[in-house]
Amino acid sequence: MARDGKRDNKRRFRRARRPKVCQFCKGDLEVTNYHDEKMLRRFISDTAKILPRRRTGVCAKHQRRLATTIKRARNLAIIPITRQLVRK
Ligand SMILES: [Zn+2]
Repeated sequence: MARDGKRDNKRRFRRARRPKVCQFCKGDLEVTNYHDEKMLRRFISDTAKILPRRRTGVCAKHQRRLATTIKRARNLAIIPITRQLVRK
């Protein structure tokens, strides 16, 4: 029993990766809707930067359009351009 425990500890922890599916290709969201603040917030970081594709799973085509949409929304002050990171 003790041996089994040891073996388990030795095994490297690997997170199961679930396949990323582009939310826009799926048809759940509309990439050009720059008034949809809730949708856009999912694709920007805490500091209001645009998140990379590897984080969100958006395909290349939709990432390009999303970037334009986010920039449009920023221009209309729907989402912030930047935010200061507060450190405690
Ligand atoms: Zn897509």
